[in-house]
Amino acid sequence: MIRINEHYLKLQASYLFSDIARRISAFQKNNPDRDIIKLGIGDVTRALPPACIEAFHAAVDEMRVENTFKGYGPEQGYAFLREAIAEYDFRKRGADISADEIFVSDGAKCDTGNIQEIFATDISIAIPDPVYPVYLDTNVMAGRTGVFKDGRYENIVYLDGTAENGFIPDLPAEPVDLIYLCFPNNPTGAVAGKEVLAKWVEYARKNKALILFDAAYEAFIRDEEIPHSIYEIDGAKEVAIEFRSYSKTAGFTGTRCAYTVVPKTCTAYTSGGERHFLHSLWNRRHSTKFNGVSYPVQKAAAAIYGEEGRDQVKALIEYYMENAGLIRKEMIDLGYSCVGGIHSPYIWINGKTDSWEFFDHLLNEAGVVCTPGAGFGKCGEGYIRISAFNSHENVRMAMDRIRKTI
Ligand code: PLP
Repeated sequence: MIRINEHYLKLQASYLFSDIARRISAFQKNNPDRDIIKLGIGDVTRALPPACIEAFHAAVDEMRVENTFKGYGPEQGYAFLREAIAEYDFRKRGADISADEIFVSDGAKCDTGNIQEIFATDISIAIPDPVYPVYLDTNVMAGRTGVFKDGRYENIVYLDGTAENGFIPDLPAEPVDLIYLCFPNNPTGAVAGKEVLAKWVEYARKNKALILFDAAYEAFIRDEEIPHSIYEIDGAKEVAIEFRSYSKTAGFTGTRCAYTVVPKTCTAYTSGGERHFLHSLWNRRHSTKFNGVSYPVQKAAAAIYGEEGRDQVKALIEYYMENAGLIRKEMIDLGYSCVGGIHSPYIWINGKTDSWEFFDHLLNEAGVVCTPGAGFGKCGEGYIRISAFNSHENVRMAMDRIRKTI
């Protein structure tokens, strides 16, 4: 008898985006003349940088002729991209990462979701709340949690993000083996300085734990003092894996390209206590289950490291950050307390009421869609997330409308 993986039955149906869609369609049905401005889902709206498009086209043309045509490429990514990453994303910031420690992939969602496969099922895991739901759900699927009770899964150590700690979780009270961290954070937009990351690295080193560091939004950091990579912290190369993505950095949400860094010095242990290098484990997993990102996409991604590409990406980020600044300022002027929006495209707002109530208010009164914070975990209750991914015109209009309803 064929049987299912029953851990999937523990998963909470993702009501968040279907609920949002349902409320939007009810609003549209009742208000056919009113338009809606979407500042909810974290998807980019601006076109790819011209340098990426040019490189993309040129690479497609190479595929047209036999002597430049490419079949399967290296599963870990082409050297031209891995070397550019090591140089520009790490060594230029003082983080000693080499090209062969980088694994190019088609998304940080897959990588942050798949990485747990290389760890034992009976380890203890710490996951922030509120959180990007992939970390949690993939561990549920793998059977590392108990059932969902009172808004939380059993056997997970939740790291609470609250107004009191500025949405930067404290170290866990009990020992844990695997820790998920995300800075700049989705959904809160909070960022961690060097001291905060150093504290986590020290914790991991002391407790023989490992940190999974999601830096998908590092490009939005605008203060030189804030680390873009956990490898800017001494000792992190032994205890941390880092995830990056071109999705938000360069508008690749539909083009798909990302990468994971597994330093060669990074280790975990066998049940007998023997140290084992994670680089070889992830390399085995990656090359067994993944066949590489397409050549034109990698060429398009590499173009962001050229002079033109760097300027264009900077302008792209600035564009969204102008929106973020406006949203943040307007909400504060209206008397709301906010986190994020300074080094991140997300503004996390204390709605002073139930998350869904505030969502409904903004939708019904202003025709603006946000994301209710409760969808990201128990600690998100009472908050909403507004995203800066839209045009200046739409964001201005949205804020005008919100102002009139408060
Ligand atoms: N990590 C975080 C924190 C995200 O918010 C997202 C996307 O929203 C991702 C990873 C996924 O990125 P990608 O598009 O590379 O799969």
